[in-house]
Amino acid sequence: MPLSTLCLRCGMCCDGSLFTHVSLQPDEATALHRRGVPLSRREDGTQALAQHCGALEGRTCTVYSDRPASCRRYHCQLFAALAEQEVSLEEALGVVDQAHALRATLERELPGDVTPDAPRSVMQRARRAAQAHPARPLSQRAQDAYANTEAFLDKHFRGRFGRRG
Ligand code: SF4
Repeated sequence: MPLSTLCLRCGMCCDGSLFTHVSLQPDEATALHRRGVPLSRREDGTQALAQHCGALEGRTCTVYSDRPASCRRYHCQLFAALAEQEVSLEEALGVVDQAHALRATLERELPGDVTPDAPRSVMQRARRAAQAHPARPLSQRAQDAYANTEAFLDKHFRGRFGRRG
């Protein structure tokens, strides 16, 4: 099935590249907690699934058949383009591979983050490094890699949905 083939090679909407949190209904939070998936608490007291999702192994969702409604509803622009047959599976997989390659380049350029709360997500580490350390600015190569990766994610994945988190 092409759509699941695409997502199984991607995982960008679950690994913190596109989002920081997924909203949960109370029963979903309870079910995920029972399965040992780590949750976080938002300022309003509700529980959420912090991204990089703890249920993601490699690029595969380990709770796929029981995933929360917010995850079920979400389809990125690339997924929609494939579903509408605006791009072929081969083209869409090529976009996913490019996104992973850009992110890998960015990861190589990022300074190490040894703080206890360092995000697992490369994109979240990059955003934090770009915003939070004026005394330790990112190298030009890291800034370029960060800008290139965000622009690529905007163009192919977020599209009209825009950036969140
Ligand atoms: S970002 Fe899009 S293509 Fe990638 S896993 Fe999520 S829905 Fe699928």
